[in-house]
Amino acid sequence: MKIQEADAKSLLLAQGLPVPPWKVARTPAEVEAAARTFFASGADRVVIKAQVLVGGRGKAGGVRLAGSAEEAAAVGARILGMDIKGITVRKVLVAAAAEIVKEYYLGAIIDRASRRVVLMASAEGGVEIEEAARQNPGAIHRVWADPELGLLAFQARALGLGIGLCDPLLNQFVAIAGGLYKTMEANDADLVEVNPLAIVAETATDGATTQSLVCLDAKITLDDSGLARHRELETLRDLDEEDPTDAQARKLGINFIHLDGTIGCMVNGAGLAMTTMDLVKHYGGEPANFLDVGGGARRETVRGAMELILGDPKVDAILVNIFGGITRGDEVAAGLIEARAQQSRDVPMVVRIVGTNAAEAARLLREARFETATSLDEAAVKAVALSKGAVR
Ligand code: GDP
Ligand code: MN
Repeated sequence: MKIQEADAKSLLLAQGLPVPPWKVARTPAEVEAAARTFFASGADRVVIKAQVLVGGRGKAGGVRLAGSAEEAAAVGARILGMDIKGITVRKVLVAAAAEIVKEYYLGAIIDRASRRVVLMASAEGGVEIEEAARQNPGAIHRVWADPELGLLAFQARALGLGIGLCDPLLNQFVAIAGGLYKTMEANDADLVEVNPLAIVAETATDGATTQSLVCLDAKITLDDSGLARHRELETLRDLDEEDPTDAQARKLGINFIHLDGTIGCMVNGAGLAMTTMDLVKHYGGEPANFLDVGGGARRETVRGAMELILGDPKVDAILVNIFGGITRGDEVAAGLIEARAQQSRDVPMVVRIVGTNAAEAARLLREARFETATSLDEAAVKAVALSKGAVR
């Protein structure tokens, strides 16, 4: 689950990282009011940033500065409603603009090969880190945290030295890297990224300037499987940007992953769903989705799953493969019959139901004139034959 910059910043702040204060605004008037508070506390300029779950907002014109509250309102009016990579901007972050001296990149992700969290830093921070990584891989420095001990201070120091920092900024970097790792661990995050981590200059009233490292941007992706351990993080889900199909699947408790093929699959159990997809491919078809209705699926779930499958216009054949254990075959059959009576378009379907109450299921399906199969191979062959998109 991706979360917005403003929410990511709250999680960083909770681990003690230096994040300048901000406000979230949904209208130009709110932008203006927020800007006023920053100007009143001494800001020269404010920064207004689109809150959308995609990167490269700066390049797309979604990050702009303003020198007065009125200008902030005008900039807010321009950014709100803007389209960034297909997403409509509905809210913006407003903060006092930092005076940036230099931009760095700092990020943590799970390195599956080493089964550790890897922290990466680069002196080439800012908007184009992926590009920098491609052109000059040597500019990215890495350390791997220990699963037991976490990120050790000497590792963080090595990382900071790698990107050319020296004290007192190096000490600040060590604390920030530690906090980044803690943010990852505390929230079961997959990715925590600060880009830019910036050296900013602050001028005191007596004219003296000091430099410090602050997190000017934040990106966090949470591990969906870890969310059960952090109920409070569920409130950070941005429903404005969630794919309606994904939202529907989540409501129904169905594991659904959209794919590129033409054969819709409805299966109970993740392993069986994988096997079903393998066989569809084996016989020359392309699955349109991975769909696991879960154990003990009731007819409402089956009906909902059918709607999810039919919602994809590319689907021109459906394969239902149910191995009844806790799930009752007759319940699934009844769900399929109900679904077909209500569905918006007619798509050929082949159904294989074995296990608990299979005989009753077979009778129901026969009476309703469904195409059935007794083995999974037979079902897959039939589904591929029914699909026009299959390569034969
Ligand atoms: P992204 O493009 O989506 O990654 O958005 P960022 O928040 O990283 O902003 C993009 C760029 O805008 C940064 O790399 C900075 O150069 C600039 N920027 C962001 N915040 C500020 C700020 O407070 N002051 C100044 N001067 N520039 C900023
Ligand atoms: Mn950024």
